[in-house]
Amino acid sequence: PNLDATGEPEGKLTYASPDYAPGPSGTARIPATLLALVRNEELDGMLQSMHDLERTWNHKFNYPWTFFNDVPFTEEFKTKTRAATKAECRYEVIPREHWDMPSWISKELFDVSAKKLKEQGVQYADMLSYHQMCRWNSGMFYKHPALADYQYYWRVEPNVHFFCDVDYDVFRYMRDNNKTYGFTISLYDSPESIPSLWPETLKFLSEHPEYIHENSAMEWLTDKDGRPEHYAKANGYSTCHFWTNFEIADMSFWRSKAYEDYFNHLDRAGGFFYERWGDAPVHSIAVALFEDKNRIHWFRDIGYQHIPFFNCPNSPKCKGCVTGRLTDGEPFLYKEDCRPNWFKYAGMG
Ligand code: GDP
Ligand code: MN
Repeated sequence: PNLDATGEPEGKLTYASPDYAPGPSGTARIPATLLALVRNEELDGMLQSMHDLERTWNHKFNYPWTFFNDVPFTEEFKTKTRAATKAECRYEVIPREHWDMPSWISKELFDVSAKKLKEQGVQYADMLSYHQMCRWNSGMFYKHPALADYQYYWRVEPNVHFFCDVDYDVFRYMRDNNKTYGFTISLYDSPESIPSLWPETLKFLSEHPEYIHENSAMEWLTDKDGRPEHYAKANGYSTCHFWTNFEIADMSFWRSKAYEDYFNHLDRAGGFFYERWGDAPVHSIAVALFEDKNRIHWFRDIGYQHIPFFNCPNSPKCKGCVTGRLTDGEPFLYKEDCRPNWFKYAGMG
């Protein structure tokens, strides 16, 4: 039989309860937004993502879109994205103090490190804006005043695909079921991009053992059997992370004292620039340590692709992806899937 990522046979896909369906019984929207950090040059890709998400989900709910950029959006960007949805669209410029390299980072040391990382094959290592983007996604976006009245967000990148009709309000689902963090894909990371992330995390934890949740997913973070070489090169971290180009999450978590302290510790340690720490391992480690693992939810029913990986449920509601297949690419990519480990240590969430 056709198996999806959990190994369950065809036909057993469980959608969330019909209580979350749109319709007259549905009350007002909850404070949530679709959120995209995007460049003007990525307009076509953004429209592609919007068309898919509007078609499969948002035309039933009309959650607003909030677009962020480090430079102002062009009129063309605004006009064309506005035309892709019935919902409200807002366009926000990121303040310099959220985007610029912090004062305690040395540009010289960045250049030297970038060169070294590049030689080790770390993607985007010498692209300063990529480092800034990862830092902003890790610890800044939820501090923007435009998001002050929102609690939940769904992160959307340009050029992603959504395949399945989703008939319930995922934000309401998150709230009513006490979910903090929702993901579709979980992968192993490139250990060369994060050699000191786990050691820094352990340093932080020794100062703040009280932040570790009693039902944390520590075992998932520290699994050594999945990819022993990754675990070794990342100095004790499995490198398993939620792939954050898709995220449905509760910003109260990022706004908590525990996360703020953790982010500040990491920010001071310098690895957003001297290494190439991604927002994916940073978010994943934090949520896996400081939150109850039962509050982390795998959205198996949201068919999703960001090249080269898919989350593709087994359902007639999904069109255009192959059930259970992680990638269309070379088979060597299959070993990148960390979802089986998540299911092993944390159940279905
Ligand atoms: P990848 O998915 O890791 O290959 O990285 P992407 O190039 O897709 O970047 C991740 C997200 O950040 C995408 O939504 C990009 O549009 C956005 N992004 C990356 N760098 C910048 C930047 O310098 N400015 C802006 N405005 N957006 C950026
Ligand atoms: Mn991307």
